[in-house]
Amino acid sequence: MKKINGETILRKLGEAIMLDEERFQPLRSRSVFEMLVATILSQNTSDKNTARTIRRLRETIGITPQSISNAGLLELKSAIRSSGLYNVKARVLKKLARIVIKNYGGNFEKVLEKPLDEARRELMSLPGVGPKTADVILLFAGGKKTFPIDTHVFRVSRRLGLIGLKDSYEDARGKLMKTFPPESYLKAHLLLIEHGRKTCGARRPLCSGCVLLEYCSFGQEFLKRKTRKP
Ligand code: SF4
Repeated sequence: MKKINGETILRKLGEAIMLDEERFQPLRSRSVFEMLVATILSQNTSDKNTARTIRRLRETIGITPQSISNAGLLELKSAIRSSGLYNVKARVLKKLARIVIKNYGGNFEKVLEKPLDEARRELMSLPGVGPKTADVILLFAGGKKTFPIDTHVFRVSRRLGLIGLKDSYEDARGKLMKTFPPESYLKAHLLLIEHGRKTCGARRPLCSGCVLLEYCSFGQEFLKRKTRKP
């Protein structure tokens, strides 16, 4: 089995996958507060529902700490109804808006001026914000050197042996930050997600056509098992 490294993954996946920069533009152009709101609204619902809810919230109330803090709870619930769990989400959004006004004077972009670890700690102390959300914001909006890990990144990295089966989020983040050069974190993150979506799916990975097959013992075993089946 050939040993794989970050540079090889970047090169192989970079040749195979055309990253659609426009798809990530909305994420980059949002304010930090909007990104947090979108993340909270996206929990336990589809991308389509989230997009619809964000549109409605923007049109009816607005997506700023002030507008959400000033909105009535019932009005807010009604605006985000289509995202599911709207009772809980409305309360979380209210709390978040109040904290941003109180601690940051309503300008949450300030958090990005802080050093990575401090900014990460502050983001993760907010309601509804876990490590993945914090890392997405820090990488996409702040250009910080961190590596967000979603379900696709976890799966592909495990199969390639970059991280262990039982690694926690923090363990996996540390290993991937060592695997890839810091200036490539954004690209590596996006390539692993696209690879997980298009080729290395959870149930039926398309290993026979995968550009990383020669480095992937999971994929080779998977194909052997498949050919053994009657
Ligand atoms: S060979 Fe299969 S399991 Fe390995 S990375 Fe490619 S698609 Fe995923």
